[in-house]
Amino acid sequence: MPNKSTSSKPLPSAASATQENAAVAAPESPAKPVKIYPIVKFGDPILEKPGAPVKKFDADLEQLIDDMFASMYAAQGVGLAAPQIGLSLRLTVIDVTGGKNPEAKIVLANPEIIHAEGEVREEEGCLSVPGFRGYVVRPQFVTVKAQNAKGESFEIRGENLLARAFCHEIDHLNGILFLTHLSMLKRDLIKRKIKKLRKLGEW
Ligand SMILES: [Zn+2]
Repeated sequence: MPNKSTSSKPLPSAASATQENAAVAAPESPAKPVKIYPIVKFGDPILEKPGAPVKKFDADLEQLIDDMFASMYAAQGVGLAAPQIGLSLRLTVIDVTGGKNPEAKIVLANPEIIHAEGEVREEEGCLSVPGFRGYVVRPQFVTVKAQNAKGESFEIRGENLLARAFCHEIDHLNGILFLTHLSMLKRDLIKRKIKKLRKLGEW
């Protein structure tokens, strides 16, 4: 597992309610055990169906959010949506600094884009489509309305990469992958390559 520069410190407490899955310390909260989820790959139908609204804002949700951040950092992503760990839920975590700045951590529950402006064409990838990238036009500025981990509503504005991450992750919550936004030619090429990889048992 690729470990970021921060070394994982031993877990101090005997908080051993952790499951058989590897529980490791998140870079930003070394004391708390978290679960690293495997990332669901393209081809799994859960990625193409809309998630259900988050309704319960409790300790379980906070744990899930911690686990999602840890899973995202472990996979070296800048955003992760719940369907990507097999949960059909309108929940996503984003950190375009890749864990470098704890204040850059963003949790969006039940997010909606309420304003978008401008256009930027940039290369994009997805943890669920590893090894493939493509150019996608996204708005340059995006304002999102969402709820935080406690269920409080807020609005957040993003520019460039952050605006792109908002769009990409909210797409996930609607069952849409970035492949949808590629040219048909590029999309078919990627899908054919994935099909081959799957036949080889490499997907
Ligand atoms: Zn993605």
